[in-house]
Amino acid sequence: MSKLIVVSAPSGGGKTSLIKALLEDFDEIDILLGISFTTRKPRSKEKNGQSYYFISKEEFQKKIDEGDFLESAEVFGNYYGTSKEWVSDKLHKGHDVMLELDWQGALQVKKFYPEAITVFVLPPSIKELEVRLKNRRQDSKETISKRISFAKEEIQKSNKFDVLILNNSFKDALNDLKQVVTEQGIAEERQEEASSVASKLLEDASI
Ligand code: 5GP
Repeated sequence: MSKLIVVSAPSGGGKTSLIKALLEDFDEIDILLGISFTTRKPRSKEKNGQSYYFISKEEFQKKIDEGDFLESAEVFGNYYGTSKEWVSDKLHKGHDVMLELDWQGALQVKKFYPEAITVFVLPPSIKELEVRLKNRRQDSKETISKRISFAKEEIQKSNKFDVLILNNSFKDALNDLKQVVTEQGIAEERQEEASSVASKLLEDASI
């Protein structure tokens, strides 16, 4: 049966790099990555139809009205949505599908497809997340502090996910993701480490 895997993480959590490496590094992994619709403006180097389909707010609303989305959510003031038809068509044709969504989208997908596997990628600490966001040199100071407070909210939802992956080392996190996709399961000590970091993060996130 085809698999549907939904990956979420706070921004700076490293999910985009992990997914990219997963798709590029392993020949044995054959999974289609969904391309979302968004009202966000393209960043430099982003091309329409590659990372996203960039559409206007009006076009987005029309898609909502016509029931085109499997899920949609507002993230940082922009709207994002996943095509219902694309996902069901690919799964029907026997393809495995991966979606990279925020937590709201992931939980909506899980309601529609209870057999979907939802994965939350955890940063090792809030401090580390801040360092990663600064190193990306993509956002202003103000945006970074907004992203951190948003990340704290997102981390509080991590206990609603099926699988936690701790991104303390890129190599280990990539291996964990591969284990999930190939349904081999994450090593027990990695699961325990992720759960204990999640508890610590939840404490930090509630401050
Ligand atoms: P960015 O604009 O930085 O690419 O993404 C911002 C956030 O929106 C990320 O957490 C990303 O995973 C999430 N996102 C991207 N596409 C979708 C989507 O189709 N639906 C939902 N709910 N979130 C999405």
